[in-house]
Amino acid sequence: MTLSCVGLGANLGDPHAALLRASEALETHGGRGIVARSSIYRSAAIGPGEQEDYLNAAVTLHWTHQAEDLLALLHRIEAEAGRIRAQRWGPRTLDLDLLTFGPEQLHSATLTVPHPRITSRNFVLLPMIDVLGGDTRIDGRTLEDWLRSCPTNPIERTSLAWHGAPSRINTAWA
Ligand code: ATP
Ligand code: CA
Ligand code: CA
Repeated sequence: MTLSCVGLGANLGDPHAALLRASEALETHGGRGIVARSSIYRSAAIGPGEQEDYLNAAVTLHWTHQAEDLLALLHRIEAEAGRIRAQRWGPRTLDLDLLTFGPEQLHSATLTVPHPRITSRNFVLLPMIDVLGGDTRIDGRTLEDWLRSCPTNPIERTSLAWHGAPSRINTAWA
């Protein structure tokens, strides 16, 4: 069983609903279910062209299979949310990234873990700190350290709730 951290992002359609549905799907299909959910953040898009702001969040879950299986589940949930890959970093109804998979470092044609762009994105680091703690180390430095040195893309913590999503925060597995 591996404590995995998944990043959620959306800026097309109804991003809040997409995050809630993704959280529900991970709770239902994500091995032992969700351990913790971050606050929901609103951030300025860094992708090409004029884009709507993103909602961003992260969850941790205990996964009992291989990392590749979790990536496949993330892709299925994205597809169910109507994700279309038209343009790199273009607007999307839902983006689910496998950020960390326990302490493992994985490099394959389809999967790199830790996700290679965590350390330069405050919209990934802030939610990760919520669920993993700022002392967690990635690539030799803590998440708090990386946050201090990463670009200050506009971001705010929202008061949006995970309503509709299961409220259970299962620390028993932590
Ligand atoms: P970025 O990777 O910069 O956040 P993105 O999320 O928009 O960009 P996608 O189009 O969602 O990129 O994914 C492109 C490919 O990245 C996927 O097909 C997937 O196989 C690969 N990939 C590699 N490592 C990971 C990972 N840790 N999490 C999710 N996808 C990954
Ligand atoms: Ca991404
Ligand atoms: Ca992705």
